[in-house]
Amino acid sequence: MSHSPIIDKNENAARTTPFDTLLIANRGEIACRVMRTARRMGLKTVAIYSDADPGARHVREADEAIRVGPAAARESYLDVEAVIEAARRTGSGAIHPGYGFLSENGDFVKALEQAGITFVGPPASAIAAMGDKSAAKARMANAGVPLVPGYHGDDQSDALLRDEADKIGYPVMLKASAGGGGKGMRVVESGDGFQAALDGCRRESKAAFGDDRMLIEKYLVKPRHVEVQVFCDRHGNGAYLFERDCSVQRRHQKVIEEAPAPGMTAELRSAMGDAAVRAAQEIGYVGAGTVEFLLDADGSFFFMEMNTRLQVEHPVTEMITGQDLVEWQLRVAMGEPLPCTQDALTITGHSFEARLYAEDPDQDFLPATGLLTRFALDLEGAGLSDDQVRLDSGVESGDTVSMHYDPMLAKLIVHGVDRDAALATLNRALAALDVQGVVTNRAFLMRLATHPGFKNAELDTRFIERNEATLF
Ligand code: ADP
Repeated sequence: MSHSPIIDKNENAARTTPFDTLLIANRGEIACRVMRTARRMGLKTVAIYSDADPGARHVREADEAIRVGPAAARESYLDVEAVIEAARRTGSGAIHPGYGFLSENGDFVKALEQAGITFVGPPASAIAAMGDKSAAKARMANAGVPLVPGYHGDDQSDALLRDEADKIGYPVMLKASAGGGGKGMRVVESGDGFQAALDGCRRESKAAFGDDRMLIEKYLVKPRHVEVQVFCDRHGNGAYLFERDCSVQRRHQKVIEEAPAPGMTAELRSAMGDAAVRAAQEIGYVGAGTVEFLLDADGSFFFMEMNTRLQVEHPVTEMITGQDLVEWQLRVAMGEPLPCTQDALTITGHSFEARLYAEDPDQDFLPATGLLTRFALDLEGAGLSDDQVRLDSGVESGDTVSMHYDPMLAKLIVHGVDRDAALATLNRALAALDVQGVVTNRAFLMRLATHPGFKNAELDTRFIERNEATLF
């Protein structure tokens, strides 16, 4: 395979060099999922592993595997030097970061650019532009993307912040500019509680991110979390692959996602899609990205943040569009244009994803560990087919679940002709999932998926909180 490097219009994007070997700098279900597409595209796959993972499923499924360090993630999966050295030693021309770990680490991307290894993701400059919530909001305002009313300025004095909160009107939400993963966020109900909340939020943010700058937003009382999947190539093309509704969250963490978002009009869909592509193009984006919006009951939507990676919930988008997003990522990384244009993309049916965690809902969702004596999905017994159900899993029967990493074991993804059909399939598939040896949240997922409010798509980000009495 020899073609000359593509010279691109976008000076932010590094030049591409062809590659035939892909290192996946991740573990668990996403490493297995990326490898599946890479293999289909004829690429050689390289896994990395820590001392907790030598026999893990992602290692078994790779063409080659290489140790990167001890069990602790920061000494292995998060060790930039070790991962780059692994790529060099295995002749890997490109690295796919999956999600989490190094996927949004600008220093890692810069180091790869210097080492001449292709990063399957955006340029470091685009990650930096979205890495700070305050700076990102300023950029988005520039690009004409609607923002939640609020304050994201440089002046961080107590008096000014209090003044801004009063102006916005309570309730407000305090957020760490450097935040992520639901940390460093607090709702303030009135002026009386403002100072205490500000102090608490700053402390938390300093401890988690080494940075205590805050932004303030109007707290929307019953918003939905609707996010748009976008893609850009190195030739200036951008497209959106519609939206996902991720309103069902527990402590700001997603539990069940779906696509398309229920109740969208064609106008709203294209307005949100266009805003999302504008957001990406404003920062010279390349590859897969997700623009998260809060959607209010009156149909107004507001930019929240952009995630500069493939999302956990990308499969629901694949199910309704028939596109393979990892293939899109790899093609873009190879310098090809987007596989298809906006006009050629359509939505077929409805899809849900349920996240199966090794955690105990009866013990405040405490992570669970142990030997998985059985992990099986009997589709035939449940009268279901492969077209309707997809299980993206990082484990199999006989695997051990350790306490070192994210407790998500697998994702159950379903497709149906419409929302009702897809939900019925989700329920049957959850019932057909047989997990023994490790406690999971399966029963909790089943209560969610059979809940009348969920069935009626009465969605907002406090759905679980509001329905606690019937869900726990
Ligand atoms: P993180 O980066 O830590 O995930 P986000 O800014 O994406 O934080 O917010 C996480 C979740 O918090 C959202 O999905 C939504 O449920 C809630 N949220 C964030 N901002 C607001 C707001 N202004 N009003 C109401 N809810 C909000």
